[in-house]
Amino acid sequence: MIQTTITLKPYGTGRQVDRMEVCIDLENLHRVSGEELCSMQLSTVTIPGCSPEGFLVTDGVGEVPVRVSESKPYPYELRNWMAERETEGTVEIRYTVRPRQLRDSDICGPYFDFRCEDGGANSAGISFLVRIPGAEGKAALHWDLSEMPEGSRGVCTFGEGDVTVDGGLELLRQSYFAVGDLHSITEGEFGFYWLTEPPFAMEKIADYTRKLFGRMQVFFRDQDPVYRIFVRKDPFLTSGGTALYRSYMFGWNDTQPFSVEERRFILAHEMVHNWPHLNDEPYGVTTWYSEGTAEFYSVMLPLRMGLITPAEAMAELQKRTDAYYTNPTRGMENMEAAAICWQDRRAQRISYGRGMLFLANVDAEIRSATGGTRSLDDVMLKILEKGRAGENLGNKVFLDTVLQISGLDVTGEWEAMKNGVPIVPGADCFDGHFTVEEKEMPEADTGKTVISYRWRLKEEANR
Ligand SMILES: [Zn+2]
Repeated sequence: MIQTTITLKPYGTGRQVDRMEVCIDLENLHRVSGEELCSMQLSTVTIPGCSPEGFLVTDGVGEVPVRVSESKPYPYELRNWMAERETEGTVEIRYTVRPRQLRDSDICGPYFDFRCEDGGANSAGISFLVRIPGAEGKAALHWDLSEMPEGSRGVCTFGEGDVTVDGGLELLRQSYFAVGDLHSITEGEFGFYWLTEPPFAMEKIADYTRKLFGRMQVFFRDQDPVYRIFVRKDPFLTSGGTALYRSYMFGWNDTQPFSVEERRFILAHEMVHNWPHLNDEPYGVTTWYSEGTAEFYSVMLPLRMGLITPAEAMAELQKRTDAYYTNPTRGMENMEAAAICWQDRRAQRISYGRGMLFLANVDAEIRSATGGTRSLDDVMLKILEKGRAGENLGNKVFLDTVLQISGLDVTGEWEAMKNGVPIVPGADCFDGHFTVEEKEMPEADTGKTVISYRWRLKEEANR
């Protein structure tokens, strides 16, 4: 097994991080001449990663000459390093990365980038850690904070300071990192971290997410206590959230209000991402499932837990329903949408509405077919169980599991959803709280009249 030791040495100037040295020691890594050594994600779904400077590979013999090439497998841009001779002994890879320099034209996108803000910096691992095929053994992370201001802290998804993970370097690449003058609220392996002090009560947000995590963890039958949330201040007009391995990052800005009430659904959405997903290779093939379940459960779990009222759930579902049916790109096939979704952000939203409405219908159908004894929950939990057992999960697993749990073959419906055929929401979906009827709305951008659906609380409709 390859043992990996990663040392991160950030350099602080004032309340900013100027650069960070990355040193990766690989015990038992062996490469022959011409074999790929590692690669860096220079760009991920249009979000710039770091371009390493001073890249140097050494081993027991000395410097390992490397050949560099670049490739663009959608939706990434990669730089690859090839060993030009056989390696001997422990291999060390060293380079320096710098935080992303934002331009005026940059807009909010997924939070992968290594970014500075007042007091420090934060990043997803993929933006500054190279991918090293085969580095799957233990990975030890060490922070060297000797060039940072006194009192600086380094944290990643797995904890504060030095940590060791069993899942190899790849798990660290799929994690979040933050360094500097950090504020935090922690409880055991649950942590919440931010840099810039906001004009709102961060404690309330942290408290809400901690409660949510505790309850979701029970619902998703998860034993792992590790979960960390990272906060970033955006210089943009809008902010969002991005989920990675057992963690997520959300953003705030000076223009949009931020409170538990305003953001509870996105906070729940990002957290749900910790659990249900299918293998999304090639990119876009199962996004409907991860975004659909995140949308569905981010409303239904808080509702079932009594954290929100049916009226609040309905208002959110109405927003999402209208956003989907008035989206001019809603007729695109899933892969067709995935192929353009980072150029046309409207297409990026398709999988959310489509996935949620399809799953809501499937849920109602399963309940009806099983006399209310089974639901989408059983399907999703069964798939989670298969995933934990190491099965490779694709769309077929979803369809087979629905059939197994309920006797229903939803292949035709699934194909229609995938192809962009309009979904007609059933009256009993979303736990039967609402009635639903057609309504007309202007399509976004074009203004032409299109059909959406209006939700009403059952009690209200019966009045
Ligand atoms: Zn999402």
